[in-house]
Order: sequence, then C-alpha cells, then structure tokens
Amino acid sequence: MAEEETKRGLVDKIDPAEIMTFLRPKMGARFKTWVEICTHCGMCANTCHFYNAHEGNSQMIPSYKVRFIRDILRKKGKVDRKYLQKVYETVYYECNMCRRCTLFCPFGIDIALLISLLRGLLFTQGMAPEGLIRAIENYKRTGNQMAISDEDWVETIEWCEEETADELQDLKIPIDKKGARIMYTVNAREPKFYPQDIMEVAKIFHVAGEDWTVPSKPGWDDTNLSMFVGDLATSKMLVENTFKRAEELEVEKIAITE
Ligand code: SF4
Ligand code: SF4
Repeated sequence: MAEEETKRGLVDKIDPAEIMTFLRPKMGARFKTWVEICTHCGMCANTCHFYNAHEGNSQMIPSYKVRFIRDILRKKGKVDRKYLQKVYETVYYECNMCRRCTLFCPFGIDIALLISLLRGLLFTQGMAPEGLIRAIENYKRTGNQMAISDEDWVETIEWCEEETADELQDLKIPIDKKGARIMYTVNAREPKFYPQDIMEVAKIFHVAGEDWTVPSKPGWDDTNLSMFVGDLATSKMLVENTFKRAEELEVEKIAITE
C-alpha cells in the first residue's frame, strides 16, 4: 500500500548527491548534537502512542525511528529506493510528529523535527503521500491547496454574502478593505466544500460589529500542508503570501480558522 501511495512521486533512480545537498546544510550544531547525543536510554519509549499501541514493540521507540539519519550520513546518501521506502513507512506511518517524546527526553532531543527532516529528504527524491504531492502542486500553481482560482474565490465570498444577508440585514463580507482591523483567512476546503462555515463566521463578525476583511488574492488559504512533507520552500511561500496581503491591506491582525 505504501508503495502504491508514493507511486506518483517515485523516481527510479535515487540521487545521493541531492540527498547530501539537502542534509549537509541542515546538520548545524542543533541537529548534529541531537543525532549524536542520544544515549538510547529508552525514556521516550512509553511517551509515544505508537509504542503503546504496538504493545511495546521496540521498533516504535522514538529514538529508533530516526536511526536513518546517522546511517544515511555515514553512507554519504548512497541508499536505494527500497531503503528509502522503509524510511517512508517509518516517518509517515509510525510517527505523527506530536513531539510528546521531546518533552520527556532528558536531553530535549526533538524527534519530531528529525522525522520532519527525513520527510524533507524523501521529498527531494519525489517520495511523499500522493494527496500531499497534489496539494503542493496546487499551492504552487494557485496559492491554495484546492486549486481555486482568484475569480472563483471572490465569487464564492460574494455568494456567501448574498445568502447570509437574507438572514442578517446589511451583512457584508468586505473584500480587500484597506485598514480593516482583522484580515480573515480560511481553510481552502471551506469555499470548496463548506461555504456555510464562512457564512457562520460572517454572522459572528457582523453581530460583534468587527472591522474585518478577506483578501482577494493568494494568502487567504491558511493551510500549509507542505510543512508535512518538509517542503520548506513552499511552506515559506504560503506564509509570505499571507503576510504580503496583510501588509498591502494594512490590517492590524490576521485571524485563521484552524
Ligand atoms: S529519551 Fe532522549 S536520549 Fe533517551 S532514547 Fe529517547 S531520544 Fe534518546
Ligand atoms: S513525535 Fe513521533 S515518535 Fe515522538 S511521541 Fe510523537 S508520534 Fe511518537
């Protein structure tokens, strides 16, 4: 199943040079120390719900899940696809990056960040869950995960305003209102599947007498799924889009739904 899921992004040939180009700059003092100082004391073991759910299977101990980093560094990135498939199964199916183990590690080793590093490494080789790869393509193309055009986004907001105004007279959903106090952003699934959520929020803002607005251009989708595959370039672009809109509109605050 795992093989199936990554099929879309799989590349036959693994590029060790690319792996090392990704890994080396990340191996600053913090990550290097974490990779080297783990004493394998096992104190993080039963903090992990995967470990507990697998009745104490030692392969689920948090520190064991990030063993690959040391190994890949030692092999100078010369690993094959089968090896990376094992990494994939570990970092996507055996850890959800909750960071609970970090709170209990006496050295503060952040296993979740190390897992994120491995996810980013896999992404350089085209390996990530298909749904996330698709969302990232959409982000790059349109600035939102559902590939909604600017035109459709604005039309949806206008439609939400019309529908809600039936219930609350004079209700407005201000688009691109310069100097508003709050710029409101949404999960892109809302305009696509749950516009009623936008309407409910509009009612709350209206009744509260809030000074708010939504941007018409990319920056309105506050999800950042690229973070889950360690695609930092796309993550950065999304955050920048939102801040750019906030600066253009000269708002005081950005509100997000999730
Ligand atoms: S608690 Fe910290 S030092 Fe101990 S095994 Fe876990 S990560 Fe390593
Ligand atoms: S971050 Fe991962 S390894 Fe650590 S407790 Fe959470 S799920 Fe387990």
